[in-house]
Amino acid sequence: MKAVLQDKTYEELAALVAQAGEKPFRAKQLAEGLTQGKRISEIPVPAALRAALLEQFEDEPVRIERVFTAKDGTKKFLFALADGNLIEGVLMKYKYGNTQCVSTQVGCRMGCKFCASTLGGLVRNLSAGEILGQILAVNRAEGGVKDRRAVTNLVLMGSGEPFDNYDQVVRFLRNVTDSRGMGISARNISLSTCGLVPQMRAFAQEGIPLNLTVSLHAVTDRERARTMPVARAYSIREILDACAFYFEKTGRRYIFEYSLIAGENCDPAHAEALAELLRGRPCHVNLIRLNEVRERSLRATGEREAQAFLKALTARGISATLRRSMGSDIGGACGQLRASYVNGEEEPPMSQGSRKRTESCCGKRSRAPKGETANEESGEEEAQR
Ligand code: SF4
Repeated sequence: MKAVLQDKTYEELAALVAQAGEKPFRAKQLAEGLTQGKRISEIPVPAALRAALLEQFEDEPVRIERVFTAKDGTKKFLFALADGNLIEGVLMKYKYGNTQCVSTQVGCRMGCKFCASTLGGLVRNLSAGEILGQILAVNRAEGGVKDRRAVTNLVLMGSGEPFDNYDQVVRFLRNVTDSRGMGISARNISLSTCGLVPQMRAFAQEGIPLNLTVSLHAVTDRERARTMPVARAYSIREILDACAFYFEKTGRRYIFEYSLIAGENCDPAHAEALAELLRGRPCHVNLIRLNEVRERSLRATGEREAQAFLKALTARGISATLRRSMGSDIGGACGQLRASYVNGEEEPPMSQGSRKRTESCCGKRSRAPKGETANEESGEEEAQR
C-alpha cells in the first residue's frame, strides 16, 4: 500500500512541493484542496506536481461505502480503506454543530467484554491520514466548505484504542487542529482510552488540551478485570494518578465513562464506592446503559436502576449525567456494522439494546462536563456508535 498523502503535516507538504521544484504557494493550494476532501486530480496544481505526488501517495485513503440515517438525523458510516479494510463512524447532529466519532484502528486488541470492535482482534493501526480521511470524507459529503465545516466536533471513540496507536493519533491531532487545515479546536475534541497509563502520562505533555475520557466501568480492579483485560496491567489507582497528572499539566477536567451492566457494577454499594473513589477530583462521570453486543452475554441495566445510580452519585457530590441514546434505530454496538459486512450480512445490525432503545455503546464515547466543550451547550446526550 502506498503512503497516504493526508498523513503529511503542512510543512511536509511544503517540502514535497519544494522538492518538485514548484513555488511555495502550491503547498497552500494543496493543503486547502486536501482539507476540502479533494483528490489530487481535483486540485488545480501543475500536472508535473500531480504526477509526482500520485506516484508516491494514495490520495483517497478513506471512501464512504454505505450510509445509514436514523430518524433523529444521526448517520452511521461504513468506510472502505485503500487496502479494502472496513471501518465505521457516526455523525451526530446537535443544535450547536455536528460531532463525528472516528476510528483509530481496524479492530482492537484490548478485549473489552462489552465491545464488538474487539471480536476479531486488532487487524492494523490506521495512519494519521486514514483517521483524518474519515472526517474529510464526511465533511465533504455533508456539504462542508472552508469557512463552514459540516463537522465541528470530534470524538475518538470509534473502533480501536487511540493510545495503542499513539504516534499516528498524535500526528492526526496535530494535523486536524492546524489552522491551515481543518482547524478544529482541541477543546472540541474528546479522546477516550481504556486506561493505558504510560500513554496517558505521555499525552499530558504533548500540549494538546483535549477532553480526556477514561472507560472505568468498575470500582475495584478485580471487578474491572472481569470485563476489561487491561485492568490486569494498570490499576484504578494508577489511572486516577494519571488523570490527576493530566489535570496538572493541562488544567482540563477529565471524564469517566461508566457503562451500567446488569448484575455487574450498578447496585447501591457500587454507586457509593464510585463516589468515594472520585470524591474531590476535578472530573465528570458519564453513565451509559450498556449497548448490548449480540455476541456477548452482558446485559444493560433497567432505566429505573440507572436513574437510581445517577441519583446516588449526584447526592454524594459527584458531577454525573445519564446519557440518552441517539440514532438507536440504526443502532448496534460499535464494531457491529463492520462485523456484519465482513460476515456478508447486508443491513446494519440491530442489537438487542437498540431494539429496546437502550443507551449507547461500549462506553468510550463521552460528553464533556459543563464548561469544557461545545458539546455541553445543547444539554443533549451522545449517540449510539
Ligand atoms: S471498548 Fe475500546 S478499548 Fe475496549 S475493546 Fe472496544 S474499542 Fe477496544
